[in-house]
Amino acid sequence: MRMNTRMIICLLITLPWMVPVCSAVDVVSSASPPPQAPLPAPDSEGTTSTITMGAAKIYLFIEGRPFALSQQELRDWVQRSAEIVLQYYGGFPITESWVAIRGARGSRVMRGQAIGSVGAVINVDVGLAATPEALADDWILVHELIHVAFPSMARRHHWLEEGLSVYVESIARANAGVLSEDAVWTGFLDGMPLGLPRAGDKGLDYTPTWGRTYWGGALFCLLADIGIREQSHGQKTLRDALRAIVAAGYNMTRPGDVRTVLAIGDQATGVTVLLDLYEEMHNQPSPATIDSLWSDLGVAKLDGKIIYDDRAPQATIRRALTRPASQ
Ligand SMILES: [Zn+2]
Repeated sequence: MRMNTRMIICLLITLPWMVPVCSAVDVVSSASPPPQAPLPAPDSEGTTSTITMGAAKIYLFIEGRPFALSQQELRDWVQRSAEIVLQYYGGFPITESWVAIRGARGSRVMRGQAIGSVGAVINVDVGLAATPEALADDWILVHELIHVAFPSMARRHHWLEEGLSVYVESIARANAGVLSEDAVWTGFLDGMPLGLPRAGDKGLDYTPTWGRTYWGGALFCLLADIGIREQSHGQKTLRDALRAIVAAGYNMTRPGDVRTVLAIGDQATGVTVLLDLYEEMHNQPSPATIDSLWSDLGVAKLDGKIIYDDRAPQATIRRALTRPASQ
């Protein structure tokens, strides 16, 4: 689809006001107050440019607000984030996408939203007082870009869309060398228990709480990645499954049936981990506990510090998960 600059600006400004068919709004945590960011007025002005990622183009709009960051710093951040996703997927997952940076009150990246109903569009609210350090620490844009690489699913499978973005964001940033092994495990050890079923849970498809959606979905992905690595004897990973799903023509702009999509992933890895795990977790409160998961991987948190046990049965898998691609 070819669009002129004015059309793109118009689309990006208009989109937040539409009710998207498929969208994901991601804030820093469930405990965060509602975003304070004023949405740009319909006549908001800004600058547009194009970032080329191999054969793919990202059309970037930066709202004309008094950001502490320069236009170049914002543009470089979008490019760096897109490169992390490109590296994980072995190519940028969609030919054309739109990223709109909007000004917001605050000093970090405040909020993101990915919409797949009219092309792949990401709106991201950046604090007007945000610094280059805040951009270096940001996970939100990578999270939103990962949404682009997975089909839109029925509402009850929203946990799979969110879980993938939470899980792959950490792993992809570690593989790109911008997130430390300690930071990944701190996030997982703190976050994954929030995804465990509580009393009355009916499984991931039927328990749309914040914890089960974001962290229950992420736990599904961690268990899947470990299972694929184990059953394929280290030959395949979740990444191979996700790359195959993109290669089959899926992205956020295309709806996907959950079993059809997971079957593509399983076919690419030669094992049936994704469908097996889906059957186990989608309609019953599973798993009940993850204590043995951490001891099997050989990772724990002691006095706020991450400690590793390289004699643990899955220590090799744990090290491989976060290893930078350059090593
Ligand atoms: Zn999300």
